[in-house]
Amino acid sequence: MLDVHKIREDFPILKRKVNGKPLVYFDNAATSQTPQVVIDTIVDYYSNYNANIHRGVHTLSQEATDAYEVARKTIQQHFNAKHAHEIILTSGTTHSINIVATGFTNFLSKGDEIIVSALEHHSNIVPWQMLCERTGAVLKVIPMNEDGELLMDVYDSLLCDKTKLVFTNHISNALGTINPIEEIIEKAHKVGAAVLIDGAQSCPHIKPDVQALDADFYVASAHKLCGPTGVGLLYGKEEWLNKLPPYQGGGEMIEQVTFEKTTYAGLPHKFEAGTPNICGGIAFGAALEYMNNIGFDTIASYENELLEYGTKKLLEIEGLKIYGTSENKTSVISFNLENIHPYDVGTIVDKLGIAVRTGHHCAQPIMDFYKIPGTIRASFSFYNTKEEIDALVEAVKKAKMMLS
Ligand SMILES: *Cc1c(COP(=O)(O)O)cnc(C)c1O
Repeated sequence: MLDVHKIREDFPILKRKVNGKPLVYFDNAATSQTPQVVIDTIVDYYSNYNANIHRGVHTLSQEATDAYEVARKTIQQHFNAKHAHEIILTSGTTHSINIVATGFTNFLSKGDEIIVSALEHHSNIVPWQMLCERTGAVLKVIPMNEDGELLMDVYDSLLCDKTKLVFTNHISNALGTINPIEEIIEKAHKVGAAVLIDGAQSCPHIKPDVQALDADFYVASAHKLCGPTGVGLLYGKEEWLNKLPPYQGGGEMIEQVTFEKTTYAGLPHKFEAGTPNICGGIAFGAALEYMNNIGFDTIASYENELLEYGTKKLLEIEGLKIYGTSENKTSVISFNLENIHPYDVGTIVDKLGIAVRTGHHCAQPIMDFYKIPGTIRASFSFYNTKEEIDALVEAVKKAKMMLS
């Protein structure tokens, strides 16, 4: 059982007021809040051992290098990667996807096919479109149904020997749908295609096992996992990471440099050019430890309770429609009030201290599917409460009264 009141003590920001009201933070799908242990880790780094890594022989540099590599191990264990050097620390999901999308340029030719899902975040659409422009490959889309679920029989018919890559998120940030990635990966491998899973939205709720999934690539951002912004990971199978060319040139990623020829460093350094976000990487490790101490099963079952409660309460409001009604979803509720623009509702709700997101959630194709400009999205985390959901319901009712 999760003691939410005790957990809330770990998050200093939850004590603040917004517009004179206690903050209700329901924008967790955009970024999560930061527990004190992670804040302490950051303060400790800059107060006691801030130094550049992998270069210096001096004590501070060695301490910083050790802490950074310990964090990489923590991340490796969390995702159950076979090797620590399969964990590339990046600036986040977007950066990770771009490393792979750019790296595939030389592996694709005209007429090859890439499959993406209709439920993607823009960061998992645009890099592939750019890859198609460079190579002449063709982008195919797995469509979705009204509930926000992928049409897996269409996926089956899209797969063929031209399919080289398949990309999908594990969980949709706009609707909360959990996609059947085990099946997606298995079927892609049957035609010899590689699979990248965007785990930005799943990692806050599910502990992924990249070996059991047999994912070729798995990417995520620390800032949705109680960690800081500007850091994330690219997991890749060793064989793939060895095959892919480096993304950026610079310091840290080389073995030897002369003006005639440069040889690249081995993994993971080949993909970590320049000074990385050292403090961020260390804090990412601390955030995973914090969440693992609570336990992902405990987190998921509590968040499910919030999802059920929130869905029931919101649907009691007449004229409210929820988008994303799959049985398999996480604690994201995307909704609209009949004939009212989502932005107007968001503005009123904010006046009452409640942070929700309004708009297309970087997933415009999903909004086009439903023929709506956007939604109001409330996304719950393990530090939210049912009382906060009650406050949201009251605020939405108030907005409805004022706007209709
Ligand atoms: C947030 C998110 C991204 C982008 O993550 P960044 O940290 O902004 O790079 C990509 N995909 C999904 C599903 C997301 O939720």
